[in-house]
Amino acid sequence: MHSAQHFDVLIVGAGLSGIGAAVHLQRQSPGRSFAILEGRDNVGGTWDLFRYPGIRSDSDMYTLGFEFKPWTQDRSIASGSSILDYLWDTVGEHDLKRCLKLGHKVVRADWSSESATWNLQVEHLGETLRFTCNFLFMCSGYYNYRKGYCPEFPGRDQFRGEVIHPQHWPEDLDYRNKRVVVIGSGATAVTLIPNLAESAAKVTMLQRSPSYLAVDSAVDRTALRLRRVLGSRMAYKVIRLRNTMRQQSTYRSAQKDPEKFKAGLFAAVRAAVGQEYLDKHFTPTYQPWDQRVCLIPNGDMFQAIASGKADVATAHIETFTETGIRLDSGEELPADIIVTATGLELVTLGEVDFTVGGDAVDFSRTWTYKGLAYSGVPNLASVFGYVNTSWTVRAELVAKFVCRVLNHMESTGASTVTPRLRPEDRRMRRGPFVEGFSSGYFQRANGVLPGQGDRSPWINPQNHRATKRLLTGRVDDGVLKFESH
Ligand SMILES: Cc1cc2nc3c(=O)[nH]c(=O)nc-3n(C[C@H](O)[C@H](O)[C@H](O)COP(=O)(O)OP(=O)(O)OC[C@H]3O[C@@H](n4cnc5c(N)ncnc54)[C@H](O)[C@@H]3O)c2cc1C
Repeated sequence: MHSAQHFDVLIVGAGLSGIGAAVHLQRQSPGRSFAILEGRDNVGGTWDLFRYPGIRSDSDMYTLGFEFKPWTQDRSIASGSSILDYLWDTVGEHDLKRCLKLGHKVVRADWSSESATWNLQVEHLGETLRFTCNFLFMCSGYYNYRKGYCPEFPGRDQFRGEVIHPQHWPEDLDYRNKRVVVIGSGATAVTLIPNLAESAAKVTMLQRSPSYLAVDSAVDRTALRLRRVLGSRMAYKVIRLRNTMRQQSTYRSAQKDPEKFKAGLFAAVRAAVGQEYLDKHFTPTYQPWDQRVCLIPNGDMFQAIASGKADVATAHIETFTETGIRLDSGEELPADIIVTATGLELVTLGEVDFTVGGDAVDFSRTWTYKGLAYSGVPNLASVFGYVNTSWTVRAELVAKFVCRVLNHMESTGASTVTPRLRPEDRRMRRGPFVEGFSSGYFQRANGVLPGQGDRSPWINPQNHRATKRLLTGRVDDGVLKFESH
């Protein structure tokens, strides 16, 4: 075992959250030694991992981008590779390469109260390295990087073609002139369909139940005009604010008057593919925004359907067969390739094994502090973005809050900070980590995420105004306990 390298702060993960956190740390809490430990061999996280045809954002880059770095491309709904370029540009502009440790996967973190440090075990090139830090900032995303979620399909072994999960898209997969069935109804499925349809013989989207689909333009013309008038920095500020507000008000109006909201979405779908298709395949049973609404940029998927290159089947799978999929209706969908766009598997904090005082931390038994820290766990914060607004908007609020906590520790000489329940918090009603969201990946993950209480600061609101209030308030709030050793 090598001797440990010590840093004031270690950031785990070099996706949007980790790179953003590093910039905020440099700017708002300067003078600290820090490093970014990234398990993969590239920055980007999500935007490096997913390589399926057409991979793109489904929220606009004016809000998915950083507040400090204007998005200057024309498309606001951006490709995975252009988001990766944006991240590498950020790394270059902020001289982050020197603190970036790629291929460093954190597997274990033990808190020592004697030294007030985290002791990390990190896998690197087949060796185990040790790192220590005073503060650990987990920017490790929210899902399992090793494998996506895929239910057991009966008869899967019989199928003679290829079965692909979008999380592991083979670079050389040749789907030209092939019949492809994409199982799924979420953002990944609706992205894949039009892109595969460009060269496949036929693409069928096979869904158990429909999702809500929203048609929007991939290019924001108002933003481009504003950029010409105000310059990119000022225009970015304005559009970022407008879009954040718009995302939030869309969510609120969907909740307040779901029928009116549905009517707007349905009108666009009806215009694109007709009433019969809408009734049969695009009318969900749940309310809008109980699960994420899927974006159809420029109506691309509807064009693929209208051209006859793609279609949709809404049915249950009876079994995979040698040559495709048999539905419970008895109908057979012939396929050369089956894509299981069946989703992600949520994990907590990069699947790192944590101990405090020698005891394993079970995060599902902790309470979330403002959606960024955990009751009883010292000197640890993590990023979890919004599910109804771009992730980065919340990620940056969290990073700035963490900087203020670090600055407070420095100015008061505290070596530890721990969120602790007050006596009156001990009997709180416990809710799920994210309220009012029924997406499969949250349902499946209830057993691994922390709980939410019924009062501030033990809450994790999805409302931007409430979150802003929560994360710009005082840091010595009587719940965060600052102590020196
Ligand atoms: C296909 C897809 C499209 C999406 N589109 C949008 C969108 O349009 N808008 C939106 O708001 N959200 C979107 N999301 C959610 C998206 O994940 C976030 O927006 C954002 O990219 C998350 O950034 P992150 O840095 O927090 O996490 P990630 O991108 O997941 O990055 C986490 C990083 O941490 C590293 N890591 C994890 N564990 C460890 C460990 N133990 N040791 C070392 N390193 C570790 C990972 O390797 C990874 O590089 C999308 C998600 C997916 C899967």
